Amino acid sequence: MDRMKALVLEEYNRLTYKEMPDPQLGSDDVLIRVKAAGICGSDVHGMDGSTGRRIPPLIMGHEASGVIAEVGSNVIQYQPGLRVTFDSTVYCGVCFYCRRGDINLCDQRRVLGVSCDDYRQHGTFAEYVAVPRHVIYPLPDKITFEQSAMVEPCSVAFHAVAITPLSLNDTAVVVGAGIIGLLVIQTLRTSGCGQIIAVDLEPARLALARQLGADQGLNPNDDDAVAEIKKMTGNRGADVAFDAVGLNASLKTALGSLRKGGVLTLIGNLKSEVELALQTVVTGEITLRGSCASRGDYPACLDMIARGAIKVDPLISATAPLADGARWFQRLYKKAPGLIKVILNP
Ligand SMILES: [Zn+2]
Ligand SMILES: [Zn+2]
Repeated sequence: MDRMKALVLEEYNRLTYKEMPDPQLGSDDVLIRVKAAGICGSDVHGMDGSTGRRIPPLIMGHEASGVIAEVGSNVIQYQPGLRVTFDSTVYCGVCFYCRRGDINLCDQRRVLGVSCDDYRQHGTFAEYVAVPRHVIYPLPDKITFEQSAMVEPCSVAFHAVAITPLSLNDTAVVVGAGIIGLLVIQTLRTSGCGQIIAVDLEPARLALARQLGADQGLNPNDDDAVAEIKKMTGNRGADVAFDAVGLNASLKTALGSLRKGGVLTLIGNLKSEVELALQTVVTGEITLRGSCASRGDYPACLDMIARGAIKVDPLISATAPLADGARWFQRLYKKAPGLIKVILNP
């Protein structure tokens, strides 16, 4: 067996660039030479062991693109040399949920670059990764490898907007202007929203939010965000809100900003449990909607990125060789200001 270079989480908080065996190629799998792989917030939070989803040893990474190097014996529809990206979720295709099309809820769901009590699935911070053919998507000509490594977070934002009932000119609040929040804002801009209000603690992120389609940026350090949003909406509140963070404070702001009958879509879950203003939800007939990963949203996202309807270049803070990956992880872990997305090139 040949060996490849990979960035390996050898123990919690210790990443080493080293040789690993090439992935094993099953008969329904496609072997991909990885060209670009984004570092996700869940990798950064997960590497210290706090989430229980990155148990070492592990090659992390699930946002990537590359070129097909080899195909398994059953794979007739794809040839080596094809530029592709792939779903971060490997789903079974035969369980109750998969057969309804709810592949993101698959009972056998595995996420690339994750290891937990149930499974270990090596990811994309490596020269090669093997994925089943049914999660592959060919790339449009006009899109770069770096741009297509952004399709995974893009699909997470796209899915959240797609499952949120929206009427023309609705006012939307987006709490958290990190990568997902900024992509939610751009997707909302293409969806007929009226006023879009971003809420974040970092001024640089609020500036980026405005540049990418938000009408207003509110910083809870300076303003009472909920009171300001009420003012901007004739004292009524927003029609829809998105929490792209998942902490007590972000949920409180998102919920507090809504009008009666509004919809709150929950994407972030930094905390696994949060406090909920139950009475506000009940008496205001608020709809709470969880949104997990995506299902079937990749082709639309690839098209929107290729057409420039969703701009990913302003979100890419840096690209670096995979060999330098450990250093970039440290910078992200220490929350170096201004870093939105770092992409590694194996
Ligand atoms: Zn991710
Ligand atoms: Zn399934």
